[in-house]
Amino acid sequence: MIPSLPKLLALAAVLWAVWMGFRLLERRGGNSKGNPPDTSGDRTGNGALDLEECAVCRAWVAGEPCERESCPYRS
Ligand SMILES: [Zn+2]
Repeated sequence: MIPSLPKLLALAAVLWAVWMGFRLLERRGGNSKGNPPDTSGDRTGNGALDLEECAVCRAWVAGEPCERESCPYRS
């Protein structure tokens, strides 16, 4: 049986999602391993995922806007 192309694409998407989720968990798990910070995907550029408290919605965000229209992080 030869898997069809859509099935292969779906499988690749699932694998990619799992991989990205694993990386996210690894990042949030702390830097106890002593690995050098990966600055390629950082928005803040300081090598850490800093949480900031939104002054409007009182939510802790990582430099990303929340759902509210008046969120100061919303550009
Ligand atoms: Zn906000």
